[in-house]
Amino acid sequence: MTATEGFEATLEVDLAAITANWRGLCARHGASVAGVVKADAYGLGAGPVARALAEAGCRHFFVAQFAEGMALREALGAGPMIAVLGGFPPGADAGAGLTPVLNGPTDIAAWQAAGAPGAGTILHLDTGMERLGLSPVERAALPPGALDGLGLRYVMTHLACADEPGHELNALQPRRFAEAAAAFPGIPRSLANSAGIFHGAAMASDLARPGCALYGLNPTPGQTNPMRQVLRLTVPVLQVRQVAAGTPVGYGATWVAKRDSRIATIAAGYADGYLRALSSRGIGIVAGRPVPLVGRVSMDLITLDVTDAPDIRPGDRVEMIGPAQTPDEVAALAGTIGYEVMTSLGARYRRQYR
Ligand code: PLP
Repeated sequence: MTATEGFEATLEVDLAAITANWRGLCARHGASVAGVVKADAYGLGAGPVARALAEAGCRHFFVAQFAEGMALREALGAGPMIAVLGGFPPGADAGAGLTPVLNGPTDIAAWQAAGAPGAGTILHLDTGMERLGLSPVERAALPPGALDGLGLRYVMTHLACADEPGHELNALQPRRFAEAAAAFPGIPRSLANSAGIFHGAAMASDLARPGCALYGLNPTPGQTNPMRQVLRLTVPVLQVRQVAAGTPVGYGATWVAKRDSRIATIAAGYADGYLRALSSRGIGIVAGRPVPLVGRVSMDLITLDVTDAPDIRPGDRVEMIGPAQTPDEVAALAGTIGYEVMTSLGARYRRQYR
């Protein structure tokens, strides 16, 4: 413990809850389940998260970028597949032990030019997301033999609307994928993200690719969240001050005390990814009870009205995200999605794994 440790915001990450979520998804999917650990495992720390999943038996990981893949290979050692969703960048090291996802003709040509060696590849067939992936038109225009000898480990597609159960793409995409994948007999298929797993047999495949559900976000919006919560962010109180009714607080003097109030200033802000959209909307949890965020979120500081939490003192900790206030709930207050709340979690938070 360093001298200042007690005064830093702390992000506790429950690795056992993440592996329990992964096991639950395996049971539900009934086939292999990967761990999507891109963006530093959605802000929680790709190395520790992936190591815990690997120990639990996970053999397939997905990142977004080649550099993320190289760092993860370092953390995991040889063995598990590490696939790079962003493609095969020109000049990338084809022998780095990573499995690039080929997203279109340019990736395919670059991979062929590199000799298609190493840890094999995944071909992404677009079925309606229109973002990445080989489209039917592109496929028809490929020169003869362009798809030969790629070292294919999987063909995959990505669902655009799995978290909107009634959307027509949920019927169309699996059908289009089955048709397109039929051209690759014997090659295993990868289809569902977190939400897709909860569609059951219609979105079954050889390898599911969940991210958010591993980390406790609700993969079934509108229904009870079946996943365990995995993180808790606590922020230390730097000062508590008394302000008289009528006193403005913080930048822009946007919040004015309606009564004599006690204001706690805590040590995190938008530079830590605590979204500025939560100004005068966020909530802190003190001794299990909510206290309102007042005024603007600033770069490194947040102010809370703790008039109704009279025992709070400098050095005490306020829970800003956690089981009592999930990332999905914080996101709803900020007008965004839980993914953004999580991937914004700051580099300055001290991460503690248990
Ligand atoms: N597969 C691909 C191609 C993705 O881009 C993502 C995340 O965006 C995932 C799987 C995981 O999605 P989710 O976090 O919704 O499970």
